[in-house]
Amino acid sequence: MNLAHWLARTAQVSGDAPALFRGERQEADYAGFYRAASGVAAALAERGVEPGDRVALFMKNVPDYLVALYGIWICGAAAVPINAKLHAKEAAFIVEASGAKLAFVTAGMGEALSDVVDMACVNTGGDAFAAMAATDPMEIEARKDDDLAWLFYTSGTTGQPKGVVITHGMLMSMSLAYLADVDEVAAEDAAFYMAPMSHGAGLYALIHVLKGARHICPASGGFDADELLEAARTQGPLSMFMAPTMVRRITDAARAAGDKAEGIKTIVYGGGPMYVADIIDAVDWFGPKFVQIYGQGECPMAITALSREEVADRETPGWEARLASVGRAQSVVEVAIGDEAGNLLAPGAVGEIMVRGRPVMPGYWQNPDATAKTIRDGWLMTGDMGFLDEDGFLTLRDRSKDVIISGGTNIYPREVEEALLTLDGVREVSVIGRPSAEWGEDVVAFVVADGVDEAALDAHCLAQIARFKRPKAYFFTDDLPKNNYGKILKTELRTRLKEI
Ligand code: AMP
Repeated sequence: MNLAHWLARTAQVSGDAPALFRGERQEADYAGFYRAASGVAAALAERGVEPGDRVALFMKNVPDYLVALYGIWICGAAAVPINAKLHAKEAAFIVEASGAKLAFVTAGMGEALSDVVDMACVNTGGDAFAAMAATDPMEIEARKDDDLAWLFYTSGTTGQPKGVVITHGMLMSMSLAYLADVDEVAAEDAAFYMAPMSHGAGLYALIHVLKGARHICPASGGFDADELLEAARTQGPLSMFMAPTMVRRITDAARAAGDKAEGIKTIVYGGGPMYVADIIDAVDWFGPKFVQIYGQGECPMAITALSREEVADRETPGWEARLASVGRAQSVVEVAIGDEAGNLLAPGAVGEIMVRGRPVMPGYWQNPDATAKTIRDGWLMTGDMGFLDEDGFLTLRDRSKDVIISGGTNIYPREVEEALLTLDGVREVSVIGRPSAEWGEDVVAFVVADGVDEAALDAHCLAQIARFKRPKAYFFTDDLPKNNYGKILKTELRTRLKEI
């Protein structure tokens, strides 16, 4: 089934319900949204886009993002969302690798793209797009569950981005699991898009379309804590995805403003490690608004979830360990831990996290070698290390390549980072291994802090973790290198280390 049927259904059931907003301004109700998307679809078909073709979205977060996305689906094509913060050359790589026939862009981005790749670009803010949206609508093209819906290029913290084949069936299964395991969504809710819609945040659209809820793109187009607090006052109930760094920032901003942000219904966090001290602080201030998910492009949003109640629980014995976990398998997947040969390991044993089920990708786009390495016997090998406990809670260790082996012992950087972060004045930390002739590797830490020195960090570590895990060196820095999604780039820290 084509995912666009969910939009058609909502347009039929509640056509006059408000749908698309830029800041406070409504741009379309559901009937208008569906009408415009069907027009875009017909115009794409007139331009020769056929079912199965790819169409790129190199766009900032604006309401027309969703009109273009559903237009692509209605005509049976697949979307290739590209992070708007990428350099035009990086975007061109994705456009060429995906074989996209056309790109929808926001103002200014088409020119940059056309400079580096021969590509037809339609600016969604211009007359050409308005004319497309006004074209006589077309019926939704039939699609099978296994047909490509979204070609997602991995963020490439390691090497060249690969295209993950995300099908209509995967996205439906992920959306239904969200409603079963993450959060309920009601028609009066609004999805608030602060993180790039080209990534996980864009997937919230599907669930909110299904439930006939509102979609709000903040006027700033991105993450602005004050803007969010204002929107919570006037446009709630709001639900949104936040990377862990955003949770930290919104907590600090809300506390400084004395604002409890009653209008925020749900903050789903994930995409990177959330430090326990930070989530405790966030729940202390905002109350039980947080749900954690763990997913990756290869199984979007749908590996595990730690529910609202579990994130806020301070009573059940062992709640701290649960809070440090990423929760339990979502309803649509099996999660297991395997050793290097792919043998399943018992609870408590650390190994590679494996997932199988409907939301798992069939493979990488035109890349059988990478697919064979990643999908083994039907299991997705996530590249993440972790362990399951007896109750099915999954705790992540670091990605296998980030584990530090010092004197033959595995040291998990996250454990050291967690310990350092509990010291007042420490804002951000990243721990990596430094080659050492004596030990194989030494633990070293990059630290962003105010009024903290090496002696204080060392004393704090000695009081928290085993002596052999504590960093042999600290490097103070103003900020940590991050990719466009806010993930810390340990590869770049390793390069910096060589230059020190
Ligand atoms: P991406 O495919 O770019 O979305 O990145 C997915 C990776 O982000 C996963 O393989 C994990 O390493 C990490 N990740 C995602 N969710 C979480 C989470 N809740 N906690 C810790 N790391 C996470």
